[in-house]
Amino acid sequence: MTTQQDKTLTRNSIITHLETLKQSGVDFFSTGSNAESSGMPDVSDKSETPTVPRTRDPELLRPLDPSTRPNQPTSCHSLENLEESLGDCNRCHLHKERQNIVFGVGNPEADLMFIGEGPGHDEDVQGIPFVGRAGQLLTKMIEAMGFSRKDVYIANVVKCRPPNNRNPLPDEMEACLPFLKQQLIIVKPKMIVCLGKVAAHVLLETQIPISKLRGTFKEFESITVMPTFHPAYLLRNPAMKRFAWDDLKKVMAVLKG
Ligand code: SF4
Repeated sequence: MTTQQDKTLTRNSIITHLETLKQSGVDFFSTGSNAESSGMPDVSDKSETPTVPRTRDPELLRPLDPSTRPNQPTSCHSLENLEESLGDCNRCHLHKERQNIVFGVGNPEADLMFIGEGPGHDEDVQGIPFVGRAGQLLTKMIEAMGFSRKDVYIANVVKCRPPNNRNPLPDEMEACLPFLKQQLIIVKPKMIVCLGKVAAHVLLETQIPISKLRGTFKEFESITVMPTFHPAYLLRNPAMKRFAWDDLKKVMAVLKG
């Protein structure tokens, strides 16, 4: 076969290949640097996979309506409506092993809101936050402040129990946080006490250790926040209770002052 016949054969192969691509909807594919200099499409092995054309479907290009995002609760005016909108939530993997969604309890108009990281075993069984040993200590702390559990509102960053009481994962917190934020909008507390590093880190968007964060007022979406130790940590480290009590005294001074 002559060189001219070779060239003609190659040219015909290229044309056939391009027509096949065009018929299958491909109207653009990238060219390599050699092709750039030659002005010819690169049909070497490396470039035979065409770039997938970008969709121009206007429905897919339309911005998402925030109220229809899968992870966003629709705007609710009451905690009952919000809990209803949560439904049998499966927005993150934590739904698989939970027994109950632990939504939150307390005064829907509370000035003071306590936020922990997530339910443990007892909370999962009962569907109520902070009812195990750590919860009993929290109840004592609340009563020592001169309140009862009915006066305050108690919730968690995630509403389903993480397996083996591990910390909630970032994607789990991201999925559940909109509901906590909506609870805050409805309750409108004057003060949030973050119980432990997980709640403090996610609300304050920081990685500063809780031992350094605690004891000074911070802010989350215009609400004053006091980070302090988690009651479960205090059960393991009773010597730290006096620091937590110092933090709560500061909260009392602001709320009752
Ligand atoms: S943790 Fe929150 S987002 Fe995840 S399944 Fe439970 S309620 Fe839904």
